[in-house]
Amino acid sequence: VRELARIVGDGYVLAGDASAYLEDASRAQGLRGRADAVVLPGSPEEAAAVVAWCYDHDVAIVPRGGGTGYAGGAVPLDGGVVLSLERLGRVRSLDPGLWRMEAEAGVTTATVRRRAREEGLLFPVDPGAAESSQLGGNVATNAGGPHCFKHGVTRAWVTGVEAVLAPGELVRVGGPLRKDVAGYDLTGLLCGSEGTLGVVTSVWLRLIPAPETSLPVIASFGDARAGQAGLEAVLASGVVPSAIDFLDAGALAAAGREGAGFALICDVEGHAAWVERDRDELVHALSDAGALEVEAPADGREVWRWREGVSIAVTARRGGKVSEDVAVPLDRLADAVEETVEIGARHRLEACSWGHAGDGNLHSTFLLTPGDAAELERAEAAAEELFAMAVRLGGTVSGEHGLGWLKRGQLARQWPPAALDAHRAIKRALDPKGLLNPGKKVA
Ligand SMILES: Cc1cc2nc3c(=O)[nH]c(=O)nc-3n(C[C@H](O)[C@H](O)[C@H](O)COP(=O)(O)OP(=O)(O)OC[C@H]3O[C@@H](n4cnc5c(N)ncnc54)[C@H](O)[C@@H]3O)c2cc1C
Repeated sequence: VRELARIVGDGYVLAGDASAYLEDASRAQGLRGRADAVVLPGSPEEAAAVVAWCYDHDVAIVPRGGGTGYAGGAVPLDGGVVLSLERLGRVRSLDPGLWRMEAEAGVTTATVRRRAREEGLLFPVDPGAAESSQLGGNVATNAGGPHCFKHGVTRAWVTGVEAVLAPGELVRVGGPLRKDVAGYDLTGLLCGSEGTLGVVTSVWLRLIPAPETSLPVIASFGDARAGQAGLEAVLASGVVPSAIDFLDAGALAAAGREGAGFALICDVEGHAAWVERDRDELVHALSDAGALEVEAPADGREVWRWREGVSIAVTARRGGKVSEDVAVPLDRLADAVEETVEIGARHRLEACSWGHAGDGNLHSTFLLTPGDAAELERAEAAAEELFAMAVRLGGTVSGEHGLGWLKRGQLARQWPPAALDAHRAIKRALDPKGLLNPGKKVA
């Protein structure tokens, strides 16, 4: 602690029992860690010096953003240093005329979006906990969100990264460049690396002009099978919605829409004159596809606020949940929604799902009473079946939250041994001592 305080200054090394730094959004599953110290560097150079010290002393380093991750990625499992990037909070540059921004890792997602918006620009990545999650965490998890259907996830917006690589070197790859194929795609490699390959300290983003307006369309269906036909009708319409989210019957009931079987929530955005035309085309496409009801409110804010509250509403039903984020090919969405409920029933658990239909990404969820160990065990067994189902349907065990600690080892389900070996070789090359977020992602 004394030596680390010499690097970052007194007051910026917290005791290892600083409880806010020992858990993330996986706390509902009882995950809580133990650290030897929590270190808050005030600059990228200090972050590099902390990593160098840890590498010299064989001490594990757990990078931490806003702690909103669902996979336990930021939880220190077995001591070591939690490296919190929260003090790296500067927007280093914002060039509205060139549609670009450079922001440090600790800037919250909401601030990035707000600052862009103030200049008439859009950073389209919109994960649900944006007021708390940080840009570095978004890059490290390659975060998505509803509007990533049209715009793509974080990786699509990152043109460069400043990061600390082992054994403590501050490097820049990419930058304010729109194209760069000179080397291997290290920027892409760091996106989604969950703190296991390096510590992100700053990020160059490309932005786009913010759409003039957006309008929602909500369609309800009798069941998931009918909803699947609705989804395919939206795609066939030729309109490109910015978001296509869904809720199944259980999620709708939890969110106060008892009785409906399945709902699609679409958003269209762009110039005011075109948005109304696109909205009308979607209304027709969804009606023709057999929707029981199609609503087209004049303002989407209430709809999306309601949608953001779904996760909390589902938790409130029983007080706890095990929620996963599998993704499947679009034509298998209804299969995955139905099988989630069947898996739950086999384990005597109420189950539901909601998520990003346009990306085939389900938040498949099993409801629990907090503190009921037997139920938690059944839910974990159900989650294993869920992962197997996702892979059987041609999908992935994680569409957006990453593997972290909770899904360690699951990659072996979906990748062949040679691909896994390549994965491990990358980890060894960039983190030869295995000190960067040990035990996470690659297990
Ligand atoms: C209510 C709610 C809604 C959510 N909705 C979405 C959603 O729609 N889409 C989605 O994708 N996710 C969603 N999430 C999950 C979460 O918000 C994202 O994964 C987010 O990107 C995590 O950012 P964070 O700053 O909180 O990272 P943390 O939780 O602090 O860390 C996540 C991982 O990234 C690593 N990490 C963090 N910062 C750095 C850094 N600077 N350098 C290297 N590694 C780092 C950590 O070690 C850890 O492995 C949601 C979470 C909640 C609680």
